[in-house]
Amino acid sequence: MRSYDTWNVLGMRLEKITGIIAVISLIIGLNWLGKPSANQSTLLNFLLLDKNKIGSDSSEVVLFTKLDEIFEKMLSALLEEEEKARSRNLSVPPQFLGKTIYKVKLCNDEKAISISFDDGPWPETTNHILYILKKHDVKATFFVLGRNVQNYPARLKQIVQHGHVIGNHTWSHSYRYHNKLAAAREIDNTAALLYKITGVKTSLFRPPGGFLNNGLVAYASKKKYAILMWSVDSKDYYASGPNLLNKVIRQAKFGGIVLMHDGGGDRSNTVWALPHIIIELKKRGYKFVTVPELLKLGRDCH
Ligand SMILES: [Zn+2]
Repeated sequence: MRSYDTWNVLGMRLEKITGIIAVISLIIGLNWLGKPSANQSTLLNFLLLDKNKIGSDSSEVVLFTKLDEIFEKMLSALLEEEEKARSRNLSVPPQFLGKTIYKVKLCNDEKAISISFDDGPWPETTNHILYILKKHDVKATFFVLGRNVQNYPARLKQIVQHGHVIGNHTWSHSYRYHNKLAAAREIDNTAALLYKITGVKTSLFRPPGGFLNNGLVAYASKKKYAILMWSVDSKDYYASGPNLLNKVIRQAKFGGIVLMHDGGGDRSNTVWALPHIIIELKKRGYKFVTVPELLKLGRDCH
């Protein structure tokens, strides 16, 4: 598993480095076109990044220095982005790992609540939800399916880039009994794909349908995932927009976790209700946090 991860990271780095080299080559190429006197060996020297072999032409030295700076900046920005994505998604306090959580008892009269979205990523709906969350400055948690991530990897990347947290919701959303091998396939394959696409190793797991006894939760607990259930069920898979809005507002409590869906079917009711839910709960003093942030807020007082 570890060497597989290492190769994945190497693969991601290589993809990025190849991209950077392509950009640098393009810049050099454009510069060369503008300077017909430049010869092939000068270009080779640039590509090999060997300062000593560059001619005395000061414009070449300036160009080299600039390319060097651009390369450095691009690389550090990429590393920073990766690091941020990891730290946002990884930091589940250890006492919650392997445990099943429905809500969190908060310390210091915190008025926090988490919204979670299941069964994505999904065409259109995920984007609509990301747009609404951004507009209202809310961070949420997305429990995604490996099958959908495989189909819509760019949407998963967007979720993470927007600062939201991702969790594992299995590969295929099956309710049947899973022996250890089948559970491993559902959970580990999804985890590996999430990692490959985003660099995030999630510690959050939500069982499909909330079933706790079909082998999936047993396996996820053994693998030290925090098992995240919910305290507020919007029932957005069948409720009308106003109906699901009422359900959420009525059941909301500080420390709660709201279940909604961005994938798996027509989610227009969810998209309609979401801004109303956010506005109404903010009016009542709630602040919205991701699931790991909610867990941290409850960490020290019990
Ligand atoms: Zn689900």
